[in-house]
Amino acid sequence: YAAKRKLSGALRYDVSIDSSSAQNLSLLTELRRAVERNELRLYLQPKVPLHGQSGSAAEALVRWQHPQRGMVPPMEFIPFAEQTGFVRQLTLWMFEEVAKFLAQPAQQSRGLRVSVNLSTRDLLDPDLSHKLAALLDRHGVLASSFCLEITESAIMDDPHRAEAMLNRLSEQGFKLSIDDFGTGYSSLAYLKRLPVDELKIDKSFVMGMEQGEDDAMIVRSTIDLAHNLGLTVVAEGVETGGILERLRALACDEAQGYHISRPMPAQEFLAWQQRQG
Ligand code: C2E
Ligand code: MG
Ligand code: MG
Ligand code: MG
Repeated sequence: YAAKRKLSGALRYDVSIDSSSAQNLSLLTELRRAVERNELRLYLQPKVPLHGQSGSAAEALVRWQHPQRGMVPPMEFIPFAEQTGFVRQLTLWMFEEVAKFLAQPAQQSRGLRVSVNLSTRDLLDPDLSHKLAALLDRHGVLASSFCLEITESAIMDDPHRAEAMLNRLSEQGFKLSIDDFGTGYSSLAYLKRLPVDELKIDKSFVMGMEQGEDDAMIVRSTIDLAHNLGLTVVAEGVETGGILERLRALACDEAQGYHISRPMPAQEFLAWQQRQG
């Protein structure tokens, strides 16, 4: 009886593994095809200065225009892409698209800086910096036109390797930003050592600013912390004019969010820039 139970248990287990791996396999196949069939889209969301003038900036966000499922948001495939390592190809695709966009004469004169999200897998790829150098060379675009966004948790996965990689990327001329700041566990001592230029306050705190004083206090402390460390600070998830004004009063440097603009296809971003003058 025990043997039989074990067997049926094992069978059930096998079946579930099988079905999930079959599903994963097809998602991986689909993702690979998505690149070949040009189903991925570059979206851009503006990042605006809250005090005076500074160069124009935007964050690059991927979308998947799936032939059957419609527009698939990144949270439905990025975590999977990270697990399988496919995200490294996706990152290169993204850099390629952004480099092409930046190489247009209109952008060259505007001095646009675009933020690109990197994952842990990218940080642990010893060839990343060479691959990016070759890609930028090919398009005639400068590393300083890019800001690389890395989450605290991606850094803390393997802090020593991440630090080495960030030093290299920074020497290469890339600006560096800590994304979703406040949601991970990075130690402040560590943060101080990294060649980081910007902290990006996670949208959960920014969106909560008008509800309770806790989130507002976290946002205020993060702005002060960033400034004390000599870093620029950006708030993401700015959905209302009220929050935008509070951030301005708190001396936050830049804002990004639906109140300013939703992420939009690169072509629409061009029109948006023109309307801003
Ligand atoms: P993230 O890097 O923190 O990007 C900000 C997310 O907040 C984006 O979601 C953006 O659309 C959303 N957002 C911006 N303003 C607002 C707002 O006012 N309210 C609300 N509720 N949301 C706002 P999105 O585009 O769905 O991307 C989600 C996450 O997927 C990103 O978070 C990033 O971690 C990842 N991701 C997106 N594109 C890429 C990519 O090309 N490569 C990698 N590795 N990850 C990416
Ligand atoms: Mg980001
Ligand atoms: Mg973020
Ligand atoms: Mg986020």
